[in-house]
Amino acid sequence: MDWNDTPEQARFRKEVHEFIGSRLPDYYRQRAVRRAQQQGLENDWQQDWVHGSPEAQAAAREWAAALAEKGWAAPHWPSEYGGGGLTTFEQFIMSWEFARSEAPVVGGAGTSLIGPTLLVHGTPEQKQRFLGPTLRGEYLWAQGYSEPGAGSDLASLQTRAVRDGDEYVINGQKLWTSTAHKSNWLFGLFRTDPDAPKHRGITFMMLDMRTPGVSVRPIISMGWEHATNETFYEDVRVPASQVVGEVNRGWYVGMTLLDFERSSISGAVQQRMMLEELAEHLRENRSPNRRELVRHEIADRYVETEVVFNLSLRIASMQASGMIPNYEASMGKMYSTEVLQRIARASMKAFGLYANLWAANEPLAPLGARHTQTAVHSVVQTIAGGSSEIQRNIIATRGLGLPRG
Ligand SMILES: Cc1cc2nc3c(=O)[nH]c(=O)nc-3n(C[C@H](O)[C@H](O)[C@H](O)COP(=O)(O)OP(=O)(O)OC[C@H]3O[C@@H](n4cnc5c(N)ncnc54)[C@H](O)[C@@H]3O)c2cc1C
Repeated sequence: MDWNDTPEQARFRKEVHEFIGSRLPDYYRQRAVRRAQQQGLENDWQQDWVHGSPEAQAAAREWAAALAEKGWAAPHWPSEYGGGGLTTFEQFIMSWEFARSEAPVVGGAGTSLIGPTLLVHGTPEQKQRFLGPTLRGEYLWAQGYSEPGAGSDLASLQTRAVRDGDEYVINGQKLWTSTAHKSNWLFGLFRTDPDAPKHRGITFMMLDMRTPGVSVRPIISMGWEHATNETFYEDVRVPASQVVGEVNRGWYVGMTLLDFERSSISGAVQQRMMLEELAEHLRENRSPNRRELVRHEIADRYVETEVVFNLSLRIASMQASGMIPNYEASMGKMYSTEVLQRIARASMKAFGLYANLWAANEPLAPLGARHTQTAVHSVVQTIAGGSSEIQRNIIATRGLGLPRG
């Protein structure tokens, strides 16, 4: 395996780097500095676009327009739909360079999940109606799969959709509907046939969040973060034209999304940056006498970030040769999220009692409390998107061929 860029890849990397250098709005360029002065600045383009200060909103729109102009708002979509038509490796290099420069990825679940699903399963009318506005950031999407009692065992979902003329009427509750408070559209799975075997009676639909009967209740995490929500549906009427794929076959449409699993290269880059920041902090003796305590741990974590990097590269290589990563994606997801938690724990150990300082503008908080906040926020990463236990089950059965427990 050759780890170096080919001449074309090196040229593309330079192009991405120069693009970020010339087009990334100052607001984002300065964010790392401001993050150290102020609490709660997330690398979250959708948050900036919908709820940001006037400056943040302007930057979010300017960056989205710059990317759209270049054709990079949806780098993986075919160019005939306004995407970049980039190869898997070009996408890999692009997310790598974005992560290194802390340039936000635009589009969220719209460009990464529903767009590619519509490209495979959508009708020509659905493509025509939804892809353009999604690309331009006019339609911002949330994902409504999980429910109380249906997370790991997603096929147990109960929210009902009953046909009534040209519409479906939806009643029920979704849980963990991330970004619902900053989205105007939702794609989700709904039960259309309660008598069929549980994977069979599910339909994939898109609904306008402003439809009467939809309500959103925030879930505030232990890190005081509002990232996700409970959503409730009371006689919500959805036109039948917003069903994607066949009625009662939504499970398979929903699972298509998993084929668009990205490699976790941006995670690998962010982890490496975090570790280098910690090493520099200790080299400069800013947490006096703590260096020896974590010296070996830092070396171990450094090796682990190299493994995360290589797992990401493996996923990208498979996609580049037309294969669909399966247990390999589970390995990447599980390992990367667990390494992040271990890095944050090493930082907590290095900072001692100062690790308890939460506010970024607290002068005594090491590294602007970023690692403390990561230690708290990273807890959910081994749950959201499929828990580590579920990933281990996949690796055991599909990767190692072990029998089901
Ligand atoms: C912050 C956050 C954001 C999320 N965003 C979204 C979103 O936008 N849209 C969406 O639809 N969902 C979202 N989710 C839901 C997420 O996919 C589920 O939380 C996850 O799949 C786990 O399901 P659960 O919470 O129901 O836990 P459960 O499935 O009830 O699991 C509880 C525990 O049991 C373990 N467990 C369950 N089954 C097995 C098994 N077979 N073998 C071994 N262990 C098992 C789990 O690993 C876990 O430790 C989000 C979750 C979080 C925390």
